[in-house]
Amino acid sequence: MNKMLDDDQIFNISPGRHVDLDHHCQNGGYSALAKALAQGPETSLKEILDAGLRGRGGAAFPTAEKIKMLRANTEKLRYIICNADEGEPGTFKDRFIMTHIPFQLLEGITIAAFMAGASEGYIYVRHEYPEAQKILHESIEEAERRGFLGDNILGSGFSLSLKLFSGAGSYLCGEETALISSIEGKKGRPRLKPPYPTQAGLWQKPTLINNVETLANIPKIIEKSASWYRSFGTPDSPGTKLISLSGDVQNRGLFEVPFGMTFAQIINEYGGGAKTGKAIKAVNIGGASGVLIPPEMLFTPLEYLACAKTGITIGSGAIFVLDDTRSILSNVQNRLRFFLHESCGKCTPCREGLRQANLILDRLLAGEAVRQDVSTLERYTRAIQEASFCGLGQAAGNSLRSSLAYYRDEYLASCRDNKPSFIEEETA
Ligand code: SF4
Repeated sequence: MNKMLDDDQIFNISPGRHVDLDHHCQNGGYSALAKALAQGPETSLKEILDAGLRGRGGAAFPTAEKIKMLRANTEKLRYIICNADEGEPGTFKDRFIMTHIPFQLLEGITIAAFMAGASEGYIYVRHEYPEAQKILHESIEEAERRGFLGDNILGSGFSLSLKLFSGAGSYLCGEETALISSIEGKKGRPRLKPPYPTQAGLWQKPTLINNVETLANIPKIIEKSASWYRSFGTPDSPGTKLISLSGDVQNRGLFEVPFGMTFAQIINEYGGGAKTGKAIKAVNIGGASGVLIPPEMLFTPLEYLACAKTGITIGSGAIFVLDDTRSILSNVQNRLRFFLHESCGKCTPCREGLRQANLILDRLLAGEAVRQDVSTLERYTRAIQEASFCGLGQAAGNSLRSSLAYYRDEYLASCRDNKPSFIEEETA
């Protein structure tokens, strides 16, 4: 499952193995927490800053900068939230961390809370992950019993009360302000930013929100140093990324990949390439909210800067391969329908724009659309992306935008006024 199974990686995991607390400690677990508590929050934060760790949930915001914002806040009560609402279709990395290496995550949360000065925290786990919830619940209790969580952690005077919170099945609650509203017992709808959660988050208190994978990176950075961490990846994007690889490849699964490898290398070396006898037609990078790119773009490296330049969204690290038997339009409509279902309906561009775009795709797939519909679809896509209130609507247009850019011929070929019979009829 994981090609980098040795001691020199960030996620030292074996398929099917649940790492319990004893095993975690035998392998150096909780030495990072002890080190952080001994050296203090500033020194620990400097290590995270030097490591160049960025958020792995999709936004790629520098983790140390976020923690610094919290530290700059004079409010005494601060919260930490681990965003484990892994709802992006095709993404299963956080589930693996929670179910296989839960103490690496708990240690990362505790160190992050210590650096940020947070004394209370939540892990917001998606409703559809009951096994992860059970394992985390038991792991939190055990960590508390052994002095790694709760009051006066390892005799340091630092305390962290950590609770689990189950989502209710809404994709939108992966958005940080919607997630906060959900914990507060309100509708899981996004709020206007600013203020950002680091300024006024949970119950209006400064709140650090980070993704599962981001937090699970922290212990190894503290334990082994920023320079060790930077031995993986590139100067722009240090470290590794957990990639959820699926679709039409030989080997599907979860892989820990150093930044800097090209998408072609990831698909071929980890995924074994396309299914036998098939050619790759397109690759979806970043899940449902990501883009569809053609094979010639697969030589782009998995790196934040290089991807930003080419319009690729790494997102949560999902890669879905489509071979030449797949219909681009059907694939795009699947994603669109997902967002239509998950849209909260608060703003018109997302609510109505997605609905209208879906109707055009219905007509295209039924062979009833005309070329003008493709231009209209492009206008709707711009409106959805530019005028939607939150990230759901803004990202919902990514697969539309990219497929219209790279597979426009397939859209036009589906139009009835683009078929030879129609053109002959018109010119007769
Ligand atoms: S963009 Fe969509 S999900 Fe976000 S607030 Fe608007 S309607 Fe709701």
